[in-house]
Amino acid sequence: MRIRLVVVALTATALAFPAPAAAQNFGAPPSGFTVENPVMRHIWALGMDSSQTDRLAQTLFDSLGPRLTASPGMDAAQRWLVKIYQSWGIEARAEGYGTWRGWQRGPTHLDLVTPRARSLEATLLAWSPGTPKGKPVRAPLIILPDVADSTAFAAWLPQAKGRFVLTSYPQPTCRPDDSWEKWATQATADSMKARRTAAQQAWTARLQHAGFGATRQLQQRLQRRLEGAGAIGILTNNWSQGWGVDKIFDATTDHAPVIDVSCEDYGLLYRLAANGQGPVVELAAQSQALGEVPVFNVVAQIPGSELPNQYVMLSAHFDSWDGGSGATDNGTGTITMLEAMRLLRLAYPHPRRTILVGHWSGEEQGLNGSSAFVHDHAAIVDSLQALFNQDNGTGRVETMSSSGFTLAAGNLARYLAQIPADVTRNIKFNFPGSPGGGGTDHASFVTCGAPGFGLGSGDWDYGRYTWHTNRDTYDKVSWDDIRNNATLVAMLVYLASEDRASCRV
Ligand SMILES: [Zn+2]
Repeated sequence: MRIRLVVVALTATALAFPAPAAAQNFGAPPSGFTVENPVMRHIWALGMDSSQTDRLAQTLFDSLGPRLTASPGMDAAQRWLVKIYQSWGIEARAEGYGTWRGWQRGPTHLDLVTPRARSLEATLLAWSPGTPKGKPVRAPLIILPDVADSTAFAAWLPQAKGRFVLTSYPQPTCRPDDSWEKWATQATADSMKARRTAAQQAWTARLQHAGFGATRQLQQRLQRRLEGAGAIGILTNNWSQGWGVDKIFDATTDHAPVIDVSCEDYGLLYRLAANGQGPVVELAAQSQALGEVPVFNVVAQIPGSELPNQYVMLSAHFDSWDGGSGATDNGTGTITMLEAMRLLRLAYPHPRRTILVGHWSGEEQGLNGSSAFVHDHAAIVDSLQALFNQDNGTGRVETMSSSGFTLAAGNLARYLAQIPADVTRNIKFNFPGSPGGGGTDHASFVTCGAPGFGLGSGDWDYGRYTWHTNRDTYDKVSWDDIRNNATLVAMLVYLASEDRASCRV
């Protein structure tokens, strides 16, 4: 939610880098430069030979960690980002756009204590309460029953008191379908998939009979109902259909912790409970609700020398879910834009137009940061020449769309023609494309007629393995490709800044 605009201006410190030397020898030329251009060559040389991408990312992903909107982790990461820009002689500021529910994660431990000891792989959902004072709580388990209707559910509800409730579908196998397809006979693989699907549908029906459903919102309503009945906690599993991978979203309860338990461990707990083997677990979970706190985007800029009131923008959301480190969603887009700004500052310190970068917050809650920026900065949006956004994983940029802007399409095609084939070889240019949907931040600009373009990277099992999962971590990133993407973005921004034509109709 947005309540007010607070601009925290942070002034640039002394230049950390010398001005570029135009006559320098920048090493072996890449294949495919179609025009001789010293700025482009310099960007290439810096991007390839002295890339800072993995070094910056290691601090951001590992040490600062995930960047949940309105968390102290996000605040610390934003302060770091502003400082990095300032150390490069780039003006940067954190710009307030409203408030959000503040929350801080602490450690979580979940152990099976009866009928045997086993430490379970478990993650507290974002915004979930912890156990009272973070102390361990022991309780038996109960499975959400299959009741006839919501009246029968209400009659059952007192049994949830003093127990951990298992509310998710127990996967019959945490072996992904493609493994079954690879190793089983076709008949066995088919029958497993049919059983999985039927059981999943039956579980959805179970949720519906109780008066809820399988959507996140309806499950959260169920969790609050169980909390109201005195459940000690709620155990869930949101398996992402790959080895060891769960999606970790949020909870809306006030007292009862909501935990994602790995597919294997959730299945274990469920089978023990279903077979009357008396499972008891002990949970110690720490977290802190911080009330409504201010939230910020980080914006940095290199002022234009000829047309300072015309803008070319780099864009990537900075916030993440916090089951992993937010490495590929959207640490990679973040590092791409950050590194591209470094290359531009060194190779193109006096751009013709103003170069702006937006590191948005609140994307995961509904593009909140970028849409607030669009709302609060009509003058920038009105004279925006082009915006390049990246938000999907780690691979090389493989798709670019002109978002339905027919005039822009010609410009983008011209830019791509000037970028070395080493960088652009795999890009499918979608002309005229269609306006960006609601998936990520360039949509905030496109919906008000500003030319925002999405740079789509290769798949790299993003949807299944890293997107919003507990495995979205530093090690998943392909640094060669991030280096390549940062160089591409810097070149596109340079060409758009210098363009004698405009992307605007
Ligand atoms: Zn994202």
